[in-house]
Amino acid sequence: MIIIDERYCKGCSICIHFCPGKALEVSKEVNSRGFYAPKVVDQAECTSCKQCELYCPDFAIFIVEDAESADG
Ligand code: SF4
Ligand code: SF4
Repeated sequence: MIIIDERYCKGCSICIHFCPGKALEVSKEVNSRGFYAPKVVDQAECTSCKQCELYCPDFAIFIVEDAESADG
């Protein structure tokens, strides 16, 4: 699952450019900081490659594996 923490996002779109699929696109609305954050277009397109997480300079996007084994 793709998690975007818009509080930290500065709208640089690096995550969108590095996403090999079509899971992300630029939001049409600004976030609380006035930036166009990414939004998830299609969760099913995400391969959990974590390129977005790796390249985001602000740790604003990350991938959470299925919560089955998570401890809450
Ligand atoms: S984990 Fe990979 S496929 Fe999924 S949104 Fe991030 S870059 Fe795109
Ligand atoms: S790379 Fe990070 S800061 Fe840049 S748009 Fe994506 S989530 Fe926001």
